[in-house]
Amino acid sequence: MRTKLRKVVRGKVKVGEALSKHTSFGIGGAADFWIEPVDFEDLANLMAFLREEKLPWIILGNGTNVLVRDTGFRGVVVNLKNLASLSVEGNSVIAGAGVPLQKILEETANSELEGFEFTAGIPGTIGGAVATNAGGKDGEIGDVIEEVSILNYCSLPPETIIVGVKIGLRKGKRENIRKKTVEILKYRKLTQPLNFPSAGCIFKNPHGKSAGELIESTGLAGTRVGDAEISTKHANFIINRGEAKAEEVITLMEMVEQEIFARFGIKLKREVKVIGD
Ligand SMILES: Cc1cc2nc3c(=O)[nH]c(=O)nc-3n(C[C@H](O)[C@H](O)[C@H](O)COP(=O)(O)OP(=O)(O)OC[C@H]3O[C@@H](n4cnc5c(N)ncnc54)[C@H](O)[C@@H]3O)c2cc1C
Repeated sequence: MRTKLRKVVRGKVKVGEALSKHTSFGIGGAADFWIEPVDFEDLANLMAFLREEKLPWIILGNGTNVLVRDTGFRGVVVNLKNLASLSVEGNSVIAGAGVPLQKILEETANSELEGFEFTAGIPGTIGGAVATNAGGKDGEIGDVIEEVSILNYCSLPPETIIVGVKIGLRKGKRENIRKKTVEILKYRKLTQPLNFPSAGCIFKNPHGKSAGELIESTGLAGTRVGDAEISTKHANFIINRGEAKAEEVITLMEMVEQEIFARFGIKLKREVKVIGD
């Protein structure tokens, strides 16, 4: 399979790649194959081949909203870091799916375009951000997306691959954009455990409620299984204190789910995507 893949793809093909290197949690076993197509055409060829061969695949951006199981992923992990084009047209930013949000934010400040500051400090790619509708109290990605380009022949949702995005913003002043960005980053530092690896918020906020506050109220913050710990700074974060295993994180997630259901009758939905068998 390795030889066949190397014939089909022009980009990097790695075998047995440790996914812990590619996730913000620093957790996860190996993928059979890790592939970085060099451009859209390369990606399209690869996806046609994977469909033909019926090989399982997933897309991974910056790996900041995923938990990869300790057994890894049997199949192909496709990374779109080479879809890295970035340009400004009028009040719009056009970006390839692999561009980090922080790079786009920098570009919007340089181009004096306002309305993207809410992404300050979110460590994902724009492709991942659209797939997960990233954002928070200051805004969400769905509010600013004008167009999404997808690879549309290979599969139907939920396996749609986002290859590029057009973001609609408005004219603004560089100093205001920078000021707002700094404020948001300060607030994050104050409220999130940024000095430990994590995958951001583990659960979605249930309608009208904060998942973090609900978890906090159960007294579970600080609970530790192995090196995985429910953060005492933000109870909707689980942090990796060193060598945490995915199974330890999942044990904590299940603990939280059971406790919140028992106390409040609320079934928390997972924000973090668990990858692997
Ligand atoms: C410290 C920290 C703070 C965070 N703060 C926030 C926050 O404030 N708000 C917030 O919303 N999130 C936050 N996150 C979570 C995360 O950064 C965002 O969800 C981010 O947008 C995910 O992007 P990614 O490239 O890392 O996606 P990944 O984690 O690589 O992937 C996430 C999901 O999207 C899919 N995906 C990725 N790229 C594509 C693509 N091109 N096409 C189709 N599917 C794709 C993947 O298959 C996977 O299912 C935080 C994470 C951390 C570690």
